[in-house]
Amino acid sequence: MPKYAMVIDQRRCVACMACVVACKNENDVPPEQYRTRVLEMVEGEFPLLRMELRSELCNHCDNPPCVYNCPTGASYKQKENGIVLLRKNRCVGCKACVAACPYNARYINHEKGFADKCTFCDHRLKEGKEPACVATCIGKSRIFGDLDDPKSPVRIALQGADSTVLLEGAGTRPRVYYIKKFSKPE
Ligand code: SF4
Ligand code: SF4
Repeated sequence: MPKYAMVIDQRRCVACMACVVACKNENDVPPEQYRTRVLEMVEGEFPLLRMELRSELCNHCDNPPCVYNCPTGASYKQKENGIVLLRKNRCVGCKACVAACPYNARYINHEKGFADKCTFCDHRLKEGKEPACVATCIGKSRIFGDLDDPKSPVRIALQGADSTVLLEGAGTRPRVYYIKKFSKPE
């Protein structure tokens, strides 16, 4: 059974937003709503400023508060590969999962009324394809694969890298890993 994960190599992102467009197109995401985004943030203190480009999406947490807080069982984590998904027909649009997610990764689809978020393009994985954002990433900043396979792109990318996850102390155990451009402020 694969243990799917994503690596964001921030050293390679050029903020072209191709991933954001590909995701919206692939997953029919409504206007003004997003399953993934690329944040442009300024770090440091003047005059030593630098910009961080950070792609964000659902972390497919191994300890997912969105799933635990869903009152209907609509949100769940797939046993076979760890992807956090949604049964649309069970979702009542109560927003409990939106409030529970500390990563702001969910929204209520304003056209259809159910909760929505990144699925790691589960439908494409079933066809042997990569997630749309990974397939379109011109800088190869987004890397996807099986954490349990030593030959997978994610394992190779993480080998010897100084990687981190978002909100490490939150206990959510994310499956999206970041290799930062700058390891610490100078
Ligand atoms: Fe749930 Fe948010 Fe974690 Fe995704 S990032 S699994 S929506 S808590
Ligand atoms: Fe569950 Fe839907 Fe409510 Fe989210 S909005 S907690 S998925 S019923």
